[in-house]
Amino acid sequence: MGGARVIMDGMQQSSPSAARSGLRAGVDIGGTKVAVSLAGPADGDAPPPLLVRVSEPTVKTGAFDALARQVLRLLDAACARCGQARDELAGIGVSACGPFVRQRGMIELANPNICGGLAGAVRDLGNDWTHVPLQAPLAEALGARVFIANDAVAALQAERRWGALRGVAHCAYVTWSTGIGVGLCVDGRVLFGKNGNAGHAGHSYVADLPGEPPLCGCGNRGDVESLIGGASMPRRLGIDAPTLLRAAQDGDAAATAQVQALCALMGRLLYNLVATLDLQRISLGGALLLHHEALLLPLLRSELARHFAALTDGVELVGAGLGLQVGDYGALALLEGGS
Ligand SMILES: [Zn+2]
Repeated sequence: MGGARVIMDGMQQSSPSAARSGLRAGVDIGGTKVAVSLAGPADGDAPPPLLVRVSEPTVKTGAFDALARQVLRLLDAACARCGQARDELAGIGVSACGPFVRQRGMIELANPNICGGLAGAVRDLGNDWTHVPLQAPLAEALGARVFIANDAVAALQAERRWGALRGVAHCAYVTWSTGIGVGLCVDGRVLFGKNGNAGHAGHSYVADLPGEPPLCGCGNRGDVESLIGGASMPRRLGIDAPTLLRAAQDGDAAATAQVQALCALMGRLLYNLVATLDLQRISLGGALLLHHEALLLPLLRSELARHFAALTDGVELVGAGLGLQVGDYGALALLEGGS
């Protein structure tokens, strides 16, 4: 399979029983949890109804292939609830937190919240992994067609198929949550990059702030995620994100100033994306953003509008149309074909 789209061709055809059931599985691998959803085929413009959803905290100890084994075990558990076996699934979409690296051509995960060896002992994740296998063990066990993509890229595909980015050829999905993730689409083509890592703008730089730059889980100091990711706030600001945002929402002046400063940094990131790619609409998701959309979206819009009008006029910032379910639908959207 050419290009950087991450596609596995373990088995070329679905089994007859899979064709009968039509069930698809969406696997969402995050730094905090792994979720598996089963759904029937999409019906027109409506997202497919989720029939079953199982999830567990992401495994971070044990054998090197513990995460892949966890995915397979959760697939079995979800299928059992529907009276199916996993080899009866018509397709399996895997949306995974990145970045990806390749070992002998196969995708592995090098995510800072799963692999404790990336930032060293300071993270204390209970392992010293620098990457964990994903594509090879899934291909070996499932023998079915599996599509793997970065989670923000998968969410972008879901937003383009069923959410707030339908019919928009130049667009991005940005998640603002524990970390910062970005999926990009230009001229109607979703961008993947050489290892499927296009859009890792959370690990880019937008500012030098006074003092020692904070450490990101990736090992960078002072990148966007280390400055405004939800996980960074207790260390950097001495307050967790929900408490800070609630205080700002309630009109607390100091909290409002801190939230405005965070939005100025996110606004620079959004502007950089718009300026680089000539985007027309950005869908924003993630728990931090969606739980405080009414507060944050107007601030982000005014930040974007402060920068070069020739590039930013008319650019739309909107909340994710699929809301907090965009992660589940992202994995399923990988099975829809096209980009
Ligand atoms: Zn980083």
